[in-house]
Amino acid sequence: MFEQIKGLFSNDIGIDLGTANSLVYVRDVGIILREPSVVAIQAGTTNVLAVGDEAKRMLGRTPGSIVAIRPMKDGVIADFEVTESMLRYFIQKVHHRKLIAPRVVVAVPSGITEVEKRAVKDSATHAGAREVYLIEQPMASAIGVGLPVHEPAGNMIVDIGGGTCEMAIISLAGIVFSRSLRVGGDEFDETIVAHMKRAYNLMVGERTAEEIKICLGSAYPMEQELSMEVKGRDLSAGLPRTITVRSEEIREALKEPLSSILESIRITLERCPPELAADLVDRGIVLAGGGALLRGIERLVAEETGLPVHIAEDPLSAVAEGTGRVLQELQFLKRVAFTAKS
Ligand code: ADP
Ligand code: MG
Repeated sequence: MFEQIKGLFSNDIGIDLGTANSLVYVRDVGIILREPSVVAIQAGTTNVLAVGDEAKRMLGRTPGSIVAIRPMKDGVIADFEVTESMLRYFIQKVHHRKLIAPRVVVAVPSGITEVEKRAVKDSATHAGAREVYLIEQPMASAIGVGLPVHEPAGNMIVDIGGGTCEMAIISLAGIVFSRSLRVGGDEFDETIVAHMKRAYNLMVGERTAEEIKICLGSAYPMEQELSMEVKGRDLSAGLPRTITVRSEEIREALKEPLSSILESIRITLERCPPELAADLVDRGIVLAGGGALLRGIERLVAEETGLPVHIAEDPLSAVAEGTGRVLQELQFLKRVAFTAKS
């Protein structure tokens, strides 16, 4: 009874502080917020004008006096103040008018430093959190996709986000080995921009590149190859032009960033203790993060590693779901999460 009443007021929250998207999970409710990890700032100042969806919307519609910052873009915190504004916005958006300050679990990229962890923790505290726990994103992702991380057996997660690809081998609720690679969906987009320039002398924006990736990007040959019309600016004539792009050429362009990811997976597997590696032969690898939605990526990874590969049911929500499950089990939280030392 007391627990129930407490739940009404406290609403402990989990935050996936992603490089591209941030999600907020409220205990006993679920994911209630998904917004781009973008902050709009008045150029030359530290004035925050908008955060999340609104910041992204303001973008194309305002003069050069507004700049958009993705503070987590590379899986490190580029700007502490901006990151704090973003965290504050997310916490306050879901927590307004609650009586008891929330406990907050923040999933952070596994590559961040102690100083950055401290900064995230302080920011969340300033933003109104009563207690703050940090958990590494690959751990949260593994929990979120339902891997039995408590078991004394090897589990492998590869979470391909916007700015980073985080992978880890987990056993007994601990990370045995993890890697954070600064290659992810953004790099796929950049590669497509470069391809369009090289092959067609056509300049396309990153948004268009992302659209191409989502509409016809692939990592493995498709039964039915696709094509689409793409508009851009001809680099020599300077005029708008439309061309037709085929999925085969996009796959070719994506080979390079994909091979960095494959290489990291190989290294991770090589570092894996033999008993755990043996477990992976049966259990395989789970792919999560937006990058797991690239067509055929599971077949490519399976072919390269010889292991079974599964895609998470909802790749974009895995980390947030993981923070949610962790909130439910405080005992477990205390074992897997690390709080920044004072
Ligand atoms: P992060 O956790 O770093 O914030 P996300 O897991 O939210 O990143 O994934 C964002 C990335 O996933 C972006 O680069 C986006 O373009 C990419 N993405 C989203 N949907 C798809 C799709 N259907 N196919 C390929 N990539 C996708
Ligand atoms: Mg993520």
